[in-house]
Amino acid sequence: MGEPVLTIVVPCYNEEEVLPITIRELSGLLSGMIGEGRVSPRSRLLFVDDGSRDRTWELIYKTGLANHLVKGLKLAMNAGHQNALLAGIFTAKEASDCIVTIDADLQDDITAIPKFIEKYKEGHEVVYGVRKSRKKDTWFKRCTAQGFYTLMAKMGVNLVYNHADFRLLGKRAVTELERFREANMFLRGVVPLIGFKSAEVYYDRMERQAGESKYPLRKMIAFAFDGITSFSVTPIRLVLTAGIAACLLSILFGAYFLFLKVYGDPESGWTSLIISIWLIGGLQLVAIGLIGEYIGKIYKESKQRPKFIIDIDMFNLPFSLRNQAE
Ligand code: UDP
Ligand code: MG
Repeated sequence: MGEPVLTIVVPCYNEEEVLPITIRELSGLLSGMIGEGRVSPRSRLLFVDDGSRDRTWELIYKTGLANHLVKGLKLAMNAGHQNALLAGIFTAKEASDCIVTIDADLQDDITAIPKFIEKYKEGHEVVYGVRKSRKKDTWFKRCTAQGFYTLMAKMGVNLVYNHADFRLLGKRAVTELERFREANMFLRGVVPLIGFKSAEVYYDRMERQAGESKYPLRKMIAFAFDGITSFSVTPIRLVLTAGIAACLLSILFGAYFLFLKVYGDPESGWTSLIISIWLIGGLQLVAIGLIGEYIGKIYKESKQRPKFIIDIDMFNLPFSLRNQAE
């Protein structure tokens, strides 16, 4: 059967600063693994340029011409981290036995990849990279991440704790992944649903090697909110519960103030009125907003838009055509 063909998929958005280091490190690792006979010589690195505005594509393309291990995939516009990953995964699927995804900033320990391959060879279709420590992350990032996992668990979403998008997927897992048709793909939530035999490999999370995080707080909140509303209807249920509670409360308050009124305290009526108007009004706004969020999701899904558009594919393109593709 021979050694498995591995493709390492790396999503890149404005990563010109870190990319030369990443390319060097990953090619070193991959050629080492090929040399040791751990993976097939047909294994490749696939850098996905997610509509970068800097020299990211130029770097990928030029390296690709010189280094046969390096391939590039250029998306027509920014599709977001998750969709860039999918573009890479599905492009590499046919030619690969297994695919490892890793961020471009080398925050994940690339020496865990040979361990992923060991697990794959033992028969695991999915291997999760799990962070042992987050010492190098900022205090803020650690706290928000912790909060996110806890919240997701409370909402009944099955996530692998402290695992991001550093993982191995076997060909069978990728084939099944393709059947998940949702527009809003949240891989961390979807991959555990595939359900094949899986393993975890632990590693130390490092600092970003260069460049800045492409996930500012605003994007992080949006990401978390998306993750929750894509996987759970608990928020809507909470609103319903809160609504019922508020109604019961206002009945109780109503009775109380009526009681006061009958026994002669006319001022109290005003207070209760204002309180209940604000309380019910606020609750209604929250509820409508939340329902709107879910309806928006349905609207998005109903359009069935493509998740990404590929501009240039160096991975599946014959070498002679590549110069014309620039
Ligand atoms: N990324 C991407 N498209 C985007 C945003 C980010 O492909 O729209 C890539 C980015 O280049 C990096 C990975 O996704 O390889 C994770 O982003 P980042 O390291 O900025 O996130 P953080 O680690 O800070 O959460
Ligand atoms: Mg990062």
